[in-house]
Amino acid sequence: MNDNLPKIQRPLLGEPFLLTPGPLTTSYQVKEQMLRDWGSWDDDFRVMTKEMRQRLLELINDGGDEYDCVPMQGSGSFSVEAMLGTFIPPSGKALVLANGAYGKRSVQTLQYLKRDHVVLDKGDYLPPRGEEVAEILSQDLAITHVVAIHCETSSGILNPIEEIAQATYGAGRALLIDSMSAFGAIPLDANQTRFEALVSSANKCIEGVPGFGFVIARKAALESAKGNSHSLCLDLQAQWTHMNRTGQWRYTPPTHVVAAFLEALRAHETEGGVAARGARYCQNRDVIVDGMRSLGFETLLKDRWLSPIIVTFFCPADPKFEFEYFYVLMKQKGFIIYPGKLTDLDSFRIGCIGQMDTAIMREVVTAAQDALDEMGVIDGAPPVAALEERKRLLA
Ligand SMILES: *Cc1c(COP(=O)(O)O)cnc(C)c1O
Repeated sequence: MNDNLPKIQRPLLGEPFLLTPGPLTTSYQVKEQMLRDWGSWDDDFRVMTKEMRQRLLELINDGGDEYDCVPMQGSGSFSVEAMLGTFIPPSGKALVLANGAYGKRSVQTLQYLKRDHVVLDKGDYLPPRGEEVAEILSQDLAITHVVAIHCETSSGILNPIEEIAQATYGAGRALLIDSMSAFGAIPLDANQTRFEALVSSANKCIEGVPGFGFVIARKAALESAKGNSHSLCLDLQAQWTHMNRTGQWRYTPPTHVVAAFLEALRAHETEGGVAARGARYCQNRDVIVDGMRSLGFETLLKDRWLSPIIVTFFCPADPKFEFEYFYVLMKQKGFIIYPGKLTDLDSFRIGCIGQMDTAIMREVVTAAQDALDEMGVIDGAPPVAALEERKRLLA
């Protein structure tokens, strides 16, 4: 047990726990920070922005020497778009490693940005591997950047980012990482894993509220990105130079969200940083996976690829099971779960992140058991066809 971990509190207003990978359940202390107004140009707020950027750099073990942190208004996808548009020049070409909805979103973004790209699509179950990346890069010399999803939140798969980084830099290309749902809980050390830029947002593993994202990028890459961006608002290079010159965001920042995020970063440190946060999420995952399996449910992924962020379960075969009804019953019991995002199989997801611990995860399992009982579903086993489909795709 981690003694540093402040006791997880029930949400004060009795609202349900969010078992969703952001927005997620935040602490009272984080929410409380939003009761005060801040002037965006004022020194007090500039100091907050500075501390936040510094703390985020510490999480990749860069003291601000090689990398810098550029926050960007909007949800996480705004920052992904900012990263892709700022670092991939109009003459560049990307290889997108896709195995789910967020990889597809990056592809869609590149289409909007009119950036040339190719896609390695691995479906929903399998990670892109280093040797596949190396192979594609050796065949297509026009590719300048590889775009990888760290944890593909649609299935919960944890992609082998070190292997991908090695293949990318082994071929002399640059890596851009969507680490949205992994950053802060899955270690990513700049001294061990090479990358050009990564992106995450306020409302994932740092456990803040939604409202902005941030990109951690090599200073050299930021410097040479001038003029690349397709967008005034999403130009990270311009946001960076302005912020370094004035201490301010270029346009109105989400002041209250930043205040809450700073509190969340301090709590992250108190808990024991990335390692402790990741360990708590792993325990949450182990309790939910064991518990749901004991009810007959099956996970989409093999244990090896199960992330501590979110877990996908197949919907049960029993015709009495209906996801919408299950959702409502779970909500009545205090837990908001997440519908599936798979291309062709019925599934649902349970998040392991946010202000949650193993005691609460055990209550989730009990709630699922009670919900099945109320629906008259005898066991959570998936349809044989789903298992066969999985087997076929994994073969
Ligand atoms: C949450 C998330 C995003 C961003 O989603 P928004 O809804 O725009 O915040 C992007 N990529 C991944 C992998 C995510 O988990």
